[in-house]
Order: sequence, then C-alpha cells, then structure tokens
Amino acid sequence: MSKIPDATPEVEAQIQPDAVHERVQSIQARIAQACERAGRSPNEITVVAVSKTFPMQAIASGTGAGLKHFGENRARQLRDKAKARPGAFEGGDIKWHMVGHLQTNKAKFIARHADWFDALDSPRLAEELDKRAAKNDRTIPCLVQVNITGDEQKYGLDPSETHDYLDHCAQYDHLAIRGLMALGSFVDDPEEVRGEFQKMRTLFDTYDASDNPQVEMAELSIGMSNDFEVAIEEGSTMIRLGTSIFGPRDYE
Ligand SMILES: *Cc1c(COP(=O)(O)O)cnc(C)c1O
Repeated sequence: MSKIPDATPEVEAQIQPDAVHERVQSIQARIAQACERAGRSPNEITVVAVSKTFPMQAIASGTGAGLKHFGENRARQLRDKAKARPGAFEGGDIKWHMVGHLQTNKAKFIARHADWFDALDSPRLAEELDKRAAKNDRTIPCLVQVNITGDEQKYGLDPSETHDYLDHCAQYDHLAIRGLMALGSFVDDPEEVRGEFQKMRTLFDTYDASDNPQVEMAELSIGMSNDFEVAIEEGSTMIRLGTSIFGPRDYE
C-alpha cells in the first residue's frame, strides 16, 4: 500500500500553489534579512522543503514556487513519493532528502530513491547504507546528525564523539560525508537555541578533513521553521522548513 498521504480538503486548500508561493516569498525575504544581518549572501542558503505528511500536490506547489529540495522523515513515504516524482538520482529535476532517523532495514529504500541522507547517526547504519549504495552503484551525499541538545529523545552523535565518527566514515567509499545536521531544542523563543547552533558551528569549523577525502565540510544543516533566522546568523547553509512552507501538520 502506498505511504503517500491522502489530501483532505483542508490540507488541499493549505497547499494550493498560490498559498505555498506566498509563504515561500515571505520566507525568502526573511532569509535575505537574516543574511544581511550576518553579512552573508542568500545564495549560501539551501531550503529543504519538508513535505512529510503532505500529499504530492505539496511537491508540485513547491516546485511551482521555485523549490528544488524536498525532505521526508519516513523511508517508505520518501520511496513512494520519489516513485511518483523521481529525484535527480533517478533522473528527475528535484532532490529528495531523508531528514529523519533511518532504521538499518530500510536503508535500501534510501539507497535507491534518496538524493541525500541527512541523518547519519551510527556506525552500523553507515556500514549498511554503504553496502546498499554500492549495490546501486552510487555514492550518497550524507550529513552526520549531532545530538547537540543532549536530549535523550533525540537521535545523533554525542558532540564529543562526532569528529571520531567522521574519521570512522572515511572507510566507506559509497558515502560522501558533506557536513553536519542537528535539531535545536523545541522552544518558543528561538534565541534560546542560539548557543546550541554556535556549538554546532564550532564542531563544523574545527573538523580537519585534510586527511579524509570522503569528508567535505560543506553543509551545516541547522534551522527549522521556528528558528531558521537564528540558524542563518550562526552559519547554517541548509534550513529544513515544513510548517512555514506548507502550513500546520496533524502529526509529526
Ligand atoms: C519535520 C522536520 C523538519 C521541519 O519542521 P518544521 O518545524 O515544520 O519546519 C525539519 N527537520 C526534521 C528532521 C524534521 O523531522
């Protein structure tokens, strides 16, 4: 059975092309302002539109508004959506990111259908994903997820183990490590996560990849709908936006 959610009338209204376009324009203005405050260029920021829980119309509205990267947090939902609208790896014109925790038994779906895997978080998963990528004759760009809040509910490497883990990933020819990803604390005031993002920036900047050609510290994926401006001010290159683009979700 397909894991693509059905469109209820409310959701359909919420993800109309015009509604998505308007939200994306306002986000772009806010990105530009945050970049200006930080002395950066908006060209440095990639928006990953997190389309999880939304039907395929969300992707069409998103591409209509100029978006190219889409994120999912469930492997089978990503697989089914990528079958309906292939990502670049399968010859399409968009890029699919798996942004959520991946169970090793579902690594095959990601190796077949995702353009990026943004939540690499264990040696076992790296080994399995590398094997699956090899079978598909490809190298998968990956981000290593860091548990920067130390929250037991969250996935990711302990910050103190992150650099060793990056070294460890050097042995996997079919994984191309392209940076780090983290979720800030879920709080109302985004200023409260600034310190967490600063810690991520330090981890990102202090890794020496010169002996490790599998690793290139190119992307720092921090910032979601509630805190992307603070993330940009602290050096984010990839922001993952769900509700601010597609409106509220019924479930996670
Ligand atoms: C859902 C999700 C997002 C987007 O969250 P919003 O608050 O809706 O912007 C970003 N990253 C991950 C890993 C997610 O699961």
